[in-house]
Amino acid sequence: MSELPPGSVIGILGGGQLGRMLSVAAARLGFRCHIYEPGANPPAGDVAHAVTVAPYEDEAALRAFAASVDVITYEFENVPTSALDLLESLKPIRPNRRALATSQDRLLEKDFLTGLGIACAPYAAVPTSADLETAIARIGTPAILKTTRLGYDGKGQVRIMSPDGAAAAKATLRQACVLEGMVDFSHEVSVIAARGLDGSVACFDPGENVHQDGILRTTTVPARLTASQRTDAILLAARILNALDYVGVLGVELFVTPQGLIANEIAPRVHNSGHWTQNGCAVDQFEQHIRAITGWPLGDGSRHSDVVMENLIGDDILKVPALAREPHVALHLYGKGAPRPGRKMGHVNRIKRPGASGPGTGR
Ligand code: AMP
Repeated sequence: MSELPPGSVIGILGGGQLGRMLSVAAARLGFRCHIYEPGANPPAGDVAHAVTVAPYEDEAALRAFAASVDVITYEFENVPTSALDLLESLKPIRPNRRALATSQDRLLEKDFLTGLGIACAPYAAVPTSADLETAIARIGTPAILKTTRLGYDGKGQVRIMSPDGAAAAKATLRQACVLEGMVDFSHEVSVIAARGLDGSVACFDPGENVHQDGILRTTTVPARLTASQRTDAILLAARILNALDYVGVLGVELFVTPQGLIANEIAPRVHNSGHWTQNGCAVDQFEQHIRAITGWPLGDGSRHSDVVMENLIGDDILKVPALAREPHVALHLYGKGAPRPGRKMGHVNRIKRPGASGPGTGR
């Protein structure tokens, strides 16, 4: 196993804000990033060494991209399988395909997690609308019907409050779904965990997440967790990483209930709820991911400050001039064009107790 030296080129599939922040972290370590993105003017393009704007179906563009990089990663998990098949035959993709396949499909993901002994909400497959009544009879209501694939930020979800709601839900159901029992949680937390090429694991301190309209609004560290819940959260994330032979950073979203932690979903990439690490740790989630995929040792991700991360969504971007004047506030803007409702334009990290030392689970 060898470390990629500074000057090596990292290929990133997807050019959004995550690709942008990965590129900045990579540049700090002397790497160069090549972004592959189908949409014009990707936010990551402003800070990357090279950008290919081409569809994932363009075989020639994919080949040229692979030839120009030393390792490939992604900031977006819905890259078409055909593109991944081709790229994988040309250069290493980290995290590996199994991690991607598992998280792309909610049913596979839940089967995988429960197979590891990790608690999930009760669930039932709903391959077609004809299967919905049976699933409701098994799971009960209230429940949430989620598309098996391509759901994010609460999109592709319908709440079914009583069995009478099945008809309305059926009307919106156009693809295979999973029906999930509604979890009665007190709050939501996530663990951002990393695994290196040598199999070593490091987890950031869990963050407490507040969602609004299905979109992450804030992450606060430290999260409200007992010492044993914190340990459970970290052990659970580490078990997932080992089982997938994972290399890179992974986000695990959890519900906190009196009966224990319940896994909601995993994301095989740097995660919005890990943005606080940019101002709360010596080595943030983006650098940790770059270190992992290039074979470097994982860095010190212990938390040195209490932080509240707040997403700037849509018109929140208009608050930037005022935020720029506030003490202990770090602004991270994504260089996107016009604000639209629900569009993530940037985030702020408010450092609550500069200099405070946290419980530190970084190494
Ligand atoms: P997801 O897209 O699966 O992350 O869901 C978005 C948000 O919906 C979660 O962060 C929760 O706030 C809520 N949610 C999702 N699944 C459930 C569930 N089974 N029970 C209760 N709330 C849920």
